[in-house]
Amino acid sequence: MVNVSITKEFTWDMAHMLACHEGLCKNIHGHTYKMQVEVTRKSKDLITSPGNSEEGMVIDFNHLKNIVKDKIIDPLDHAFMYWCQSPDSLEHEIAELLRKHGRKVVTVTYKPTAEEMARNFLEILSHEFDKHDILIRSVKVWETPTSFATAVREE
Ligand SMILES: [Zn+2]
Repeated sequence: MVNVSITKEFTWDMAHMLACHEGLCKNIHGHTYKMQVEVTRKSKDLITSPGNSEEGMVIDFNHLKNIVKDKIIDPLDHAFMYWCQSPDSLEHEIAELLRKHGRKVVTVTYKPTAEEMARNFLEILSHEFDKHDILIRSVKVWETPTSFATAVREE
């Protein structure tokens, strides 16, 4: 049996800091993040309903794009990702200052590494795509052009 998946790529710019990091990453800094989302259909390979605009597809690339943009990319783009349980008091002060000035802050409950993001985004997207009969097979998050983390749904 052949199973077809499709993958869409996204990028966004975001600031973070890694508390307790021994190197430069403890400083507030930014990345142009890249993400690939790979999806497949849950029940059958492709949409087969004749006349359906998505016939012959897993899901329309545009449809996929709009959902991921809405749920992940737009909230994160040009934001500071704030770990609310950070052991570094500076991180709380930065988030508070940015908020006070009406700047973009996204609060997360995990240390903002590419690994944790990949896992978190896979969970968010799985929940969202469930209603479209779509399975998120993997989410890959690049922090630099040569370093990325992969989260895979294990059945
Ligand atoms: Zn970084």
